[in-house]
Amino acid sequence: MLNAVVRLPGLFAGLLSRFLVIGLLVFVGLADAAETDPKLESALDDYLLQLEEDPKQAYQTIKAMAERVDADTPLGSRTRFISYLSGAHLHNQQKEQAIALNQQIFDWASESGDPDVWAEGLATQIERLMFDNERKAALERVEQLLTYLPKAESLRVRYFGHNTAAYVYARASRFAEALQQYQLALEVVNQTDDQRTPIRRLYLKSQLASMYSTMKNYSLSLSLSDEAINEAKERELHGFLPDLYILRGYVLVEMGKLGDAIAANEQGLAWADKQGYNGARLTLLNNIGDIHMRENRLGEARQYFERALTDALKLDDHHTENLLRFNLGYIQVKSGLHRQGLEWMKQALQYFRELELDTDVELMLGELADAYHLAGEFAQEATTRQEQYQLSKKIFQRERDKRTTELQEQFAAKEKARQIQLLEQENALKQTDLENKKLQQRIALLLIAVGLLASILIFQLYRKARDSNLRLREANAKLAYQSLRDPLTGLFNRRSFQEQMQHRSHAIERRHSSTTAIDGLILFDVDHFKHINDHYGHAAGDAVLVELSERLMKISRTDDMVMRWGGEEFLMLLRHVDSNSLTMLCQRVLNAIGEKPVEFQGHTIRVTVSAGFLTLPFSGMSEQEFNWEKAVQLADMALYLGKVHGRNRAYGLLHLKTPYEQIRHTLETDLSKAIDNDWVEVTVINGPAANG
Ligand code: GH3
Ligand code: MG
Ligand code: MG
Repeated sequence: MLNAVVRLPGLFAGLLSRFLVIGLLVFVGLADAAETDPKLESALDDYLLQLEEDPKQAYQTIKAMAERVDADTPLGSRTRFISYLSGAHLHNQQKEQAIALNQQIFDWASESGDPDVWAEGLATQIERLMFDNERKAALERVEQLLTYLPKAESLRVRYFGHNTAAYVYARASRFAEALQQYQLALEVVNQTDDQRTPIRRLYLKSQLASMYSTMKNYSLSLSLSDEAINEAKERELHGFLPDLYILRGYVLVEMGKLGDAIAANEQGLAWADKQGYNGARLTLLNNIGDIHMRENRLGEARQYFERALTDALKLDDHHTENLLRFNLGYIQVKSGLHRQGLEWMKQALQYFRELELDTDVELMLGELADAYHLAGEFAQEATTRQEQYQLSKKIFQRERDKRTTELQEQFAAKEKARQIQLLEQENALKQTDLENKKLQQRIALLLIAVGLLASILIFQLYRKARDSNLRLREANAKLAYQSLRDPLTGLFNRRSFQEQMQHRSHAIERRHSSTTAIDGLILFDVDHFKHINDHYGHAAGDAVLVELSERLMKISRTDDMVMRWGGEEFLMLLRHVDSNSLTMLCQRVLNAIGEKPVEFQGHTIRVTVSAGFLTLPFSGMSEQEFNWEKAVQLADMALYLGKVHGRNRAYGLLHLKTPYEQIRHTLETDLSKAIDNDWVEVTVINGPAANG
């Protein structure tokens, strides 16, 4: 007997596809918070309502809405609109356009990286693949979709995604996964509370109840479908009732509660009639007939099958028509009308054979064999059972192969999704790494900049310090120079000579010896210098002093010391000389000054000097006894003699002829008297004569 089990795949396929349309309607009011245009969202809600009532008009509506969507439309609403438009094109035989629009969503997804956009694009694509019956590709996309859904924020998108995934899994007989996706969808729906929430919840409960029944969890399925039936009645969502009763009837049959099953189907039949749901009515009639047949109530069974057959013919439902003919044929055989019954059965069987509906054919072969048995045609029975056995083996093998490939595909799809996720993670890591590197570079650059700045600052400070040190050193050097030098002539000054002489005294004391090398002292004074100043001006006087200095420097040796003793007086300390060479040197001094006049601003100025000179130590005396100060004093007195005796000449004191102790007083106060007394030997040298 061909019972409800045979009808199950058809029944649930119908249930699922019809609920999927309702599923789309569940979008209404599920606008999300982020990046949406409220006006457009509500227009899209209206579109869904229209789609339910007038699909043709709805297609025009959604196409016309393209005008109000542009690049400024928030991405969320834009994506939703394109997804709907793509779906609308698909259902109106515009597949190319549907695919192009879907691609548009993927482009936005890639640009924005927004998981909501990715999810919506993938769910849209999956719907199209299912529409084209490309289940394998759809399953692959579902794996991908499920990587985005946990990150998606929009409740609408999450609902759409989970619902689509559930549908694909259910069609692939992966019921556990379908169940899980419906539960996730229900969780999303439970976060909403609006006009459409009850419809959405009812739809999902129906799906869950059907999943449970498929998974043979009949009690759960039954309680869920009861709950759903009560809710549908309460909320006056009567459209759900026929299918819910079909499900309930099926579950009750499986539970062996055939009486209750008939009652459930009868109730469903009443609601189907009220709603004008002919498809559901056909199923219900067939299912009631099945149950009567199980109970061997052939009359009742035939009655329902015949009612169903009328409907099937009206609906052009050849599949059900042939199932019913098969059942009716069987009833005829059972009723003794062997030949006619077997004919009906074989004809119906032929229909399924041609369509290669092996599962149906296999079950039918079993029942046909039974019928042959009843008719006493045992040879036919044996052949039929043989055929059934072969087919059953074939189906089993094919099922096994299918399962294996499915498992392989399932694994491959999961692996692919995992790899995509890994790649994404890797990219994210790379991005982070890149950003870190950039940051490090920036820090390094900053450090370099800071370092450079600090170096510049330090360098500037250093240069400043160095410059000021340099200036200080220069100033010190200058000061030192100035303290030892005469500013006008650059010669040593009196102070430096005094210092030099002090060193000399100390050296002598340290050596405890008076026998140092003999040096010479020449002190001289410019003759009539006042006259030069008066006659040519003070500047001329200065120029003369400078010129004299240069001439003195020229004739002196490196060790010698030339200094400005004061005003126009100069002192020379000449190293390692005796009286003779000192006399010669003094002559050279007088000549150097007097031989050539000084040229100043067109004036020719004749300059002569008077000088006094002697050696140090003088006349064999120790410098402790007769020191440099006494020597200079004596030179000054000799110079004075030069002045007194006509100038341009030098008086040299060569040595004492009488011990110093005896003539000391006279020598230091009246040199001319000492000379006159012949206590001291003197030499006089004359400077060059004036040339006209
Ligand atoms: P004499 O020595 O031959 O007896 O005559 P004098 O004219 O040189 O007399 P005295 O030594 O008294 O005069 C020195 C003058 O030199 C006095 C002063 O005005 C002048 N004098 C001193 N120092 C400088 C100087 O640095 N520059 C100039 N132009 N004149 C100076
Ligand atoms: Mg003088
Ligand atoms: Mg003078």
